[in-house]
Amino acid sequence: MPLFCDVALAVPLDMVFTYAIPPGMEPVVGGRVLVPFRQQRMSGIVVESHDRPPQVKTKKVIEALDLSPVLDEHLLNLGKWIADYYLAPVGEVFRTMLPLSAEFKRAIACRITDEGRLALHLAGMSGSPARSKRTPEQQLIEFRVLDYLAARESVREESVRGVTRVAKALLNGMVRKKWIAREDVSAARDAARLVKVAVLLDAETAEASPPLDGRGARPSTGIAKKLNGNQRTLIETLAASGGRLPVEALRALDVPRTTLSTLVRRGLIELVDEPQDFTVSVSKLKPRQSPFEFEFSAAQNEALGKIGEGVLSRKFGGLLLHGITGSGKTAVYLACMRQVLEQGRSSILLVPEIGLTPAVAADLHQVFGDEVAILHSGLSDAERAEQWHRIRRGEARVVAGTRSAVFAPVSDLALIIVDEEQDSSYKQEETPRYHARDVAVMRAKMAGAVVVLGSATPSLESYYNAKKNKYALLELPDRVERRPLPEVEIVDMRQEFQETGQEQVISRKLAEEIRERLEKKEQVMVLLNRRGYSPVVLCRACGKTLQCKNCAVSMTHHKRERKMECHYCGHVERIPDKCAHCGSEYVYFVGTGSEKLEELLHGMFPQARIGRLDRDTVRGREDFEHALNALNEGALDMLVGTQMIAKGHDIHGVTLVGVIGADMALGLPDFRAAERTFQLLTQVAGRAGRGQSPGKVVLQTYFQEHYAVQFAARHDFAGFYDKELQFRAWMHYPPYSAIANVLIRSEKLDEALTWSGELGRWFEKTRHEGIRVLGPAAAPITRLKRDYRYHFILKSPSREKMNALLRAMLAEVAARKIPRTQVIVDVDAVWLM
Ligand SMILES: [Zn+2]
Ligand SMILES: [Zn+2]
Repeated sequence: MPLFCDVALAVPLDMVFTYAIPPGMEPVVGGRVLVPFRQQRMSGIVVESHDRPPQVKTKKVIEALDLSPVLDEHLLNLGKWIADYYLAPVGEVFRTMLPLSAEFKRAIACRITDEGRLALHLAGMSGSPARSKRTPEQQLIEFRVLDYLAARESVREESVRGVTRVAKALLNGMVRKKWIAREDVSAARDAARLVKVAVLLDAETAEASPPLDGRGARPSTGIAKKLNGNQRTLIETLAASGGRLPVEALRALDVPRTTLSTLVRRGLIELVDEPQDFTVSVSKLKPRQSPFEFEFSAAQNEALGKIGEGVLSRKFGGLLLHGITGSGKTAVYLACMRQVLEQGRSSILLVPEIGLTPAVAADLHQVFGDEVAILHSGLSDAERAEQWHRIRRGEARVVAGTRSAVFAPVSDLALIIVDEEQDSSYKQEETPRYHARDVAVMRAKMAGAVVVLGSATPSLESYYNAKKNKYALLELPDRVERRPLPEVEIVDMRQEFQETGQEQVISRKLAEEIRERLEKKEQVMVLLNRRGYSPVVLCRACGKTLQCKNCAVSMTHHKRERKMECHYCGHVERIPDKCAHCGSEYVYFVGTGSEKLEELLHGMFPQARIGRLDRDTVRGREDFEHALNALNEGALDMLVGTQMIAKGHDIHGVTLVGVIGADMALGLPDFRAAERTFQLLTQVAGRAGRGQSPGKVVLQTYFQEHYAVQFAARHDFAGFYDKELQFRAWMHYPPYSAIANVLIRSEKLDEALTWSGELGRWFEKTRHEGIRVLGPAAAPITRLKRDYRYHFILKSPSREKMNALLRAMLAEVAARKIPRTQVIVDVDAVWLM
């Protein structure tokens, strides 16, 4: 029996911690244990058990939480690979991989000490406590707390405060006087989903532990007499159902919510957590047309065949499915996954953040029934945990979900599909900063499975890999039923300015085209990739703009919600009536966002029914789908919005797409700007067309000659790809170079400057052949969420060398006592701002 185990804890430290295993306990590798860490209890993952005594004194494992591993060998190795590749603390990686936080309840308890008992006793003797600076009222509360705790072993702090109404500060004072002690009693919950259940305590129990009302007085006997109508309804309902009912069921009664808490406070009802068997919520959506109703084209059949062969070989294989918009990629995915399921094996489908609408979920349920588990951002922690357990028990062999679904604990994994593999939502922008597409490829390698990356506009990296034969390239070159691609007309907005003499939001050409469609009762979509009403508030007197107080970023005006909002940190301010710098009243709202665009279009086309789709109108995936349904059902004539509208599935009636300022990104200091612009333009253009009529795209731009605009207008992916690769090669950017962004941040400017200066000198001194280090430089957004930001960009054709240098840098960071959380290492950074 091993004596020690190494535990990965979710703390920002690049190490594991050794604990002693008490006799009789058998923690499993890959399972969770509860351990003391500093003043807390934490759950961590056992990565190894051994007999090597550590040099420092070890603490003991408190409890082994799992009988079998929650991370099998594959997932454990995948987690270690992520920690290594992305230079992330392994405990934080495991926490990201396991959506089981709902099973661990953080809790602090209080208990009375011997000193506390003595104080209580003395107070009882003398009638009033000896000299004290505290007011009699405070003393009364203190003794109420002691009185309450004296009759109990250990009580959750929140309960103590709820019952005795003691203020946090007073409780802290009692801890300092050692009258009471606090302890961390965090513990694992049962793996099953827990529900709150109300339990009726009998009147005698309630009397035996005298409840206290707000003033500390004890109620007289005869509790039943004290009940009001609502309270009686609750008590009687509980009594009639054997004294126990889920709180949820009581909520259905026509009784205020506070009634229950009052009864709990009075000691008549107790609330306990009980596990409940999870029932899969049955989709309430009406079934849609089956995705298999149309005939597969030759290209679709070929793709299906190639993927199927790969799966049968039980060896790793990577395929890039490049299918233009509307070419039927989803049908291929579903058919492949069905084949895998028929072989009794498992598959995972990853979709971008907004991709998993209720309609897509309904499709999946229709094809796979109860065999599918769907993981999306709308799930609660408990629901997420329950889905995880279903997958692990083998009840769901088909998993569909966003980024973190790549960690789904399926067994016998045969296939991972990454839909819209270029989508930036696959990159996690917090530690661990993994890219789900790249993790999917690695997981497939480790499992001997097939990975399919699908896209209409593959990322440069993936297409390059396919060209270099790292992936097999599958092309779906035609839209289903050979529907034609839309015609794209470019409108040069500089010329528009010269001819009209003023800055236009909507060009004459686009206005004319919209009018024509509306007259023909056809539908229109207009993209402006910027939400809000006006992006800038400018003072004409001093020239300053209104900036967020936490970020070096302009506040955006939101007219309908009557506020200014920072789109980076969410900070909200009221709309200024004068300049914050000089007090002038000449403040102007400059520029156009999607909210203003909607208003402008209303003004130009008062008869048209216009809907808007952006983060202000869409709170969840239901809202998103609701707007698209309204368009499809003909309840809207026009839909305006941000890039969200480019990502819609199933749009059939739109014959005109207008694009306003889609080239704004081209002005950003980001090497992926051209790629993103090309992708966005191609995607939104793909929404145009109805049946056999090709539809039209009007593209307004200030960068008419830019190759991203030109190639998108010609639907020429290969042309864009060749040109962009030249640029990447010259500039040593991916795919020719691995890249990492090292960000130094601090709320204090001098700290950020000092640390980045120190690291800059360290990089200069260190030999790092074959690695370019740029910086330190102020990050393009110099201040974000209160932090001042400086960064280094590392580029190297050798990923191994680059990671070795980064590892050495982190050791230097530790040696210089720069807090690890203030140094962000972002390997394969997607966002360099
Ligand atoms: Zn001013
Ligand atoms: Zn901000």
